[in-house]
Amino acid sequence: MKWIKRLKEEFGKDRVIDEIETRRIYSKDESGIEDSLCDCVVFPESEKEVSRILKFASRFKIPITPRGGGTGVSGGAIPLKGGIVISFSKMNKIIDIDEKNMTLEVEPGVILENIFKEVEKSGFFYPPDPASYENCTIGGNIATNAGGPRCIKHGVTSNYVLALDVVLSEGERIFTGRKTRKWKAGYNLPGIFLGSEGTLGVFTKIYLRLIPLPECIQTLLVPFDEKAYAGICSSEIIRNKIIPRCIEYVDESVFEIIGDDIKRFFPDKTRAFLLIEFDGKEEEVKKDIEKILPVLDKNHAIEIYTGIKEYERQKLWKIRRDILPFLEKTGYKVRSEDVCVPFAHTSNLIKIADEIRKTFDLKVCVFGHIGDGNLHINLLWEKQEKETLNRAVEFLYRKVVELNGTITGEHGIGILKKDFLGIEQDNTVISIQRKIKKILDPKNILNPGKII
Ligand SMILES: Cc1cc2nc3c(=O)[nH]c(=O)nc-3n(C[C@H](O)[C@H](O)[C@H](O)COP(=O)(O)OP(=O)(O)OC[C@H]3O[C@@H](n4cnc5c(N)ncnc54)[C@H](O)[C@@H]3O)c2cc1C
Repeated sequence: MKWIKRLKEEFGKDRVIDEIETRRIYSKDESGIEDSLCDCVVFPESEKEVSRILKFASRFKIPITPRGGGTGVSGGAIPLKGGIVISFSKMNKIIDIDEKNMTLEVEPGVILENIFKEVEKSGFFYPPDPASYENCTIGGNIATNAGGPRCIKHGVTSNYVLALDVVLSEGERIFTGRKTRKWKAGYNLPGIFLGSEGTLGVFTKIYLRLIPLPECIQTLLVPFDEKAYAGICSSEIIRNKIIPRCIEYVDESVFEIIGDDIKRFFPDKTRAFLLIEFDGKEEEVKKDIEKILPVLDKNHAIEIYTGIKEYERQKLWKIRRDILPFLEKTGYKVRSEDVCVPFAHTSNLIKIADEIRKTFDLKVCVFGHIGDGNLHINLLWEKQEKETLNRAVEFLYRKVVELNGTITGEHGIGILKKDFLGIEQDNTVISIQRKIKKILDPKNILNPGKII
C-alpha cells in the first residue's frame, strides 16, 4: 500500500511493521475475535509522534486502533476496519512519582504491575487491579475504566485519574483535567475519555493520584455448602456496613474445571467460597475482622480460615487470577461476561447463571468481584453453538437490566456488546454519545465500529 510506504519513510522501517505475523499478533486480543487484520503496526516513542500519526491517518482517512497489552475481552483492541494499530510498548516510562503531592505521571504503555511495584517503593498504593495486571497497560485501563478485586473499598480506575494528555483524531494535543485533588473548571472532559475504548482520543500521558500503602492486609477464606449462601453472605457483609477491600467469589462450576488446585483448600462439601481481604491500619483491620466473623457465621459459612500466611495468600490470588486463562485452555471458546448489579441483588446473578445452564444447555463458569455485585459469568461454547450463545447472552443482559444492573461493569462494550447497548440505554442516551463521537472524531477514524 502506498500510504504504508510513506509512513515508513516518516517513522522508519523498524517502527512501521507490515509483515504478516506481526499484523496477526497485533490484530487479536483476549476477546477471541480473530477475523480482522490491521495493515500495519506503528510503535511511536513520543506524544509528538502520536500526533503525527493521527494527522497522517486523518488526511488519508485511515482507521486507527490504539493498543495497550491486548488483554481486553470485549474486542476493543481489534482493528475491525484494518488500518493502523498504534502500539504503546515503546511509550512505557514512569515519568514521575511526586511524593509531596501524592501523584504519579506515566506514559500509557506502562504495564500495571510495574506501577504497583514502583509506587510501593515510595510507600504509596495505586489500588485498581484488574486480574490481568501482569500484562495490561495503564493506557488500556483508562480506556476501559478498569476495575478489579480491590475496587469495593478503593474504587475503579476513574477514581484515580487527575488529568490526561490526549491526542485527538486530527492530531491536536490537549491536556485535560488538573493535577489537583479537586477540580471543577468546565465540563468533566477527562470523564468523557475514561472508558472511551480508543474511540474519542489517544492517551499519551496519564496523571494519577496515589494513596498511602496500607499498613496491614488480612485475608479470610470462607467456604459454603450452597452457592446461594455465598451470594447472600456477600450482600449481608455490605448491608452490615463492613467494607473489605475485596470479596471475591468462586463456585463449583470453576472447581470442576480447575480441579484439585482449588479443591484441596476446602472441605469436600464446598460448593462456593469467598476470598475476603481487609487492609488499613492494624487496629482497624482487627476491628473489621471482629465485625465480620459473626456475619459469616450467621450466613452459613462452613469454615472461616483466618491467619493466612503471605505465601498462601499469594498462591490463592494466583489461582484466582489464572481462572480465566485456564478456562481458555479447555478447548471451548469463552465468552467472559462482566455484568454488575446493585449489592442486594448479587445472589440473583448466581441464580441467573443456573437458569442459563438449564435453558441453553451451555457450560457456565462463575467467579468474580461479588462484593461489587460484579460477577464474571463465563459462557463456554463450541463453534456450532454460536446462535445459542447469542440468545444466552441476550437473556443474561435482559435479566441484569431488570435488576437495575449493567451489561458491563468493567470490560467495556467493544465489539461484543455493541448490539446489546440498547438493552441498557435508551435512544436519546445513545444518540448523545454518537454526537460526542462525531464532534471529537468527525472522520470516524478512531477505533471505528466500536461501542456505538
Ligand atoms: C485474565 C484476565 C483478567 C482480567 N481481569 C480484569 C479485571 O479484573 N478487571 C477489569 O476491569 N478487566 C479485566 N480484564 C480485562 C482487561 O485486562 C482490561 O480491560 C484492561 O484494562 C485492558 O488493558 P490493555 O492494556 O490490555 O488494553 P487493550 O486490550 O490493548 O485495549 C483495550 C482498549 O483500550 C484502548 N486503548 C489502549 N491503549 C490506549 C491509549 N493509550 N489511548 C486510548 N485508547 C487506548 C484500545 O483501543 C481498546 O479499546 C481481564 C482480562 C484478562 C485476560
